[in-house]
Amino acid sequence: MADDLSRLCVHTITTRPWSVEEAVDQYAAAGIKGITVWRQWLEGRDANEVGERIRSAGLTMVSLCRGGFFPASDLTARRAAIDDNLRAIDEAAAIGAPLIVLVCGASPDVPLSEARKQIQAGIEAVLPYAAANGVKLAIEPLHPMYADSRSAINTLKQANDMCMAIGSSLIGVTVDVYHLWWDPDLAFEIARCGANGLLFSFHICDWLTPTADLLNGRGLMGEGCIPIPQIRGWVEDAGYSGFNEVEIFSDRHWARDQHEFIHDIINAYQEHS
Ligand code: ZN
Repeated sequence: MADDLSRLCVHTITTRPWSVEEAVDQYAAAGIKGITVWRQWLEGRDANEVGERIRSAGLTMVSLCRGGFFPASDLTARRAAIDDNLRAIDEAAAIGAPLIVLVCGASPDVPLSEARKQIQAGIEAVLPYAAANGVKLAIEPLHPMYADSRSAINTLKQANDMCMAIGSSLIGVTVDVYHLWWDPDLAFEIARCGANGLLFSFHICDWLTPTADLLNGRGLMGEGCIPIPQIRGWVEDAGYSGFNEVEIFSDRHWARDQHEFIHDIINAYQEHS
C-alpha cells in the first residue's frame, strides 16, 4: 500500500555500518520520521547529547533496544541481568526514549518453564524503576528458533498472558512480523493485545527462503513471504497508530551502500508494507 513516511521509523541496527550520528543525519535527510536506537550505538557517548541531536534533527525517539535477557542458571547472573536492565532504563531516560524493547532471554541450561518464571520475576524487579523514570517496557516474542538462547517467550499469546499476569500499564508488547507471521492465532492475539491496551510497538522486515543465517538473514519488506500489509491491517484494526519500525539484520544489506539501502527501504515501505 502506498504510504507517506510520517509513521516510518528505522532501527540503528538496520543501517549497522553507520554511527548513531550518521544514522540521525541520513534518516532525517531521507524524510524518515522516527528512530529506534540500539544500546551499542550509545557506547562511549552521552545519551543526553544523542537524544538532543535526535530531537534537533526533527526525529521522534521511538524506543531503545534492548533490555531483557533475564534467565540464567545462577543467581549472580540473574542479578547482573537486572542491573543491566536498570542501566538500560537510565539510558532510555537520558536519551528520551519512552519505551525499552525486551528480548526476554533464554539459556540452554534453564528449562523453558523456569526461564519464563525468571523473565516475569525480572520484569517485576525492574518495573518500579521504570515507573520512576517514566519508561515503559515491551515484551517482544521471538520466533521459536531462538528459544534456546534468546527468548523463552515465543508466541504473542505468551506475551499477552505475561502482561496480564504482571498487570501494569507500563508493560506491553512489541509485535514483530518476523517472529510471529507463522502463528495461526496471530490475528486473534493481535486483537486481544490491542483490546487490553498492550500493543506498544510494531516491527517489520521479511522472511527469506531459504533463510541462510538464523540471525542476520532477514529480508527487506517485499523480498520474502510475510504478508506484512495484512498483519499491519490487524495491528491497526486493534487500535495501533504508532510507528512502523524497520528492523533488518542482514549481512547482505549491511555490505551495500547504506544510502542506496535507505532509498530501497523507503520504496519497500511504500510498496510492500
Ligand atoms: Zn523486533
